[in-house]
Amino acid sequence: MSSELLKRTRAVLPSWLAIYYDEPIELDRGDGRHVWDSDGNRYLDFFGGILTTMTAHALPEVTQAVADQAGKIIHSSTLYLNRPMVELAEQIATVSEIPDAKVFLTPSGTEANDAALLLASSLRRSNQILALRNSYHGRSFSTIAITGNRSWSPTSLSPFQTYYVHGGQQYRSPFAGLSDGEYIAACVADLREVLDQAGGDVAAFIAEPIQGVGGFTSGPDGLLGAFAEVLREKGILWISDEVQTGWGRTGEHFWGWQASGAVPDLVTFAKGIGNGLSMGGVIAPASIMDSLGANHISTFGGSPLTSAGALANLRYLLDHKLQANAALQGPVLFDGLRALDSPVVGDVRGKGLMLGVELVRPGTGTPGDPAPEIATAVLEGCKRRGLLVGKGGLHGNVLRIAPPLTLTAEEAAAGLAALLAAIEEATP
Ligand code: PMP
Repeated sequence: MSSELLKRTRAVLPSWLAIYYDEPIELDRGDGRHVWDSDGNRYLDFFGGILTTMTAHALPEVTQAVADQAGKIIHSSTLYLNRPMVELAEQIATVSEIPDAKVFLTPSGTEANDAALLLASSLRRSNQILALRNSYHGRSFSTIAITGNRSWSPTSLSPFQTYYVHGGQQYRSPFAGLSDGEYIAACVADLREVLDQAGGDVAAFIAEPIQGVGGFTSGPDGLLGAFAEVLREKGILWISDEVQTGWGRTGEHFWGWQASGAVPDLVTFAKGIGNGLSMGGVIAPASIMDSLGANHISTFGGSPLTSAGALANLRYLLDHKLQANAALQGPVLFDGLRALDSPVVGDVRGKGLMLGVELVRPGTGTPGDPAPEIATAVLEGCKRRGLLVGKGGLHGNVLRIAPPLTLTAEEAAAGLAALLAAIEEATP
């Protein structure tokens, strides 16, 4: 069945669309932390469609909210009062920890970052943007222009003058091996030098607290806080891209930025909030959000249907304290992976239920040579064992583990066992 669909995919989708596995999986349905393919095979889902399934597959509360709203009206988000959108925005503002917060809803993370860039660059009257190396912020013309991982950019043309700084990738950094304090100091010195060269007219700094596409990498806690001090001095706005790190995913905090000890000016989000529905947005204080003069609307951003589903999803997350569950189950996976002591595992990192395993060629030192072929073999081995995990990083050699936040202890144990067995099997 899936081979027939694969042929049609080649005919209708662009060649740059990434599909995993030698024999791609056609997902048919999901329930809880499991999905089934079109041949009836069941998989434990440790990737949630790139952190899209935040709570659970087919969560009855979300399904019901969507069905109820669909039965009333499916419509655009603008021109008329829209109760689900207002209630969702209020709820997000409440949990945002941003003072005097307002929320603009979009249909994707790309558009959330676009909106944040528009706000920051028009407020600061500058098209200069500072970003982290190895970052990913979206696929539009403006967001690829600030994406450090250039393998995601089909063009070198850019609407922005972008500068990239070190920091987000400690394992493969030129500053690796330093203590956390020294690493932060080295990155801050790099930031200052880049800013000096830029000439002091930078609009905003954008960063993922843990880089998602980049392979679940980050600097030490406090790095972005140290950056924030420099940014404040120069009036540069800080955009925290929480598309992957938001909603308690990291366990210890609700937002990734909270590990920094400072508060960003703008926050963007997407993916998990919709639990599979198309939903994203930007959060900013009223002083920033209301700075745009012209009409600015999104037909589908915050539509009644997606807002109703996202609101039910967010309420479930808060009512069931899923951040605490991420803090409980994450370390089980983290400790189990760390204990493996395998020659192909160069680094195990991340927080809560957002864990990265960097696979390297045995005996190649630290950092080891990237081993994308081992990552591919582990993905196939996991698939055979009924487990889905993700892959990422510049070299495609990092396993990305990010199950739905309702993960149970039994599922964590079962997934870990399958993963460890697949890594051992793929070890040369
Ligand atoms: N920011 C980050 C951190 C992301 O991981 C992604 C998607 N991988 C985006 C932005 C873009 O989101 P979308 O694909 O919804 O446009």
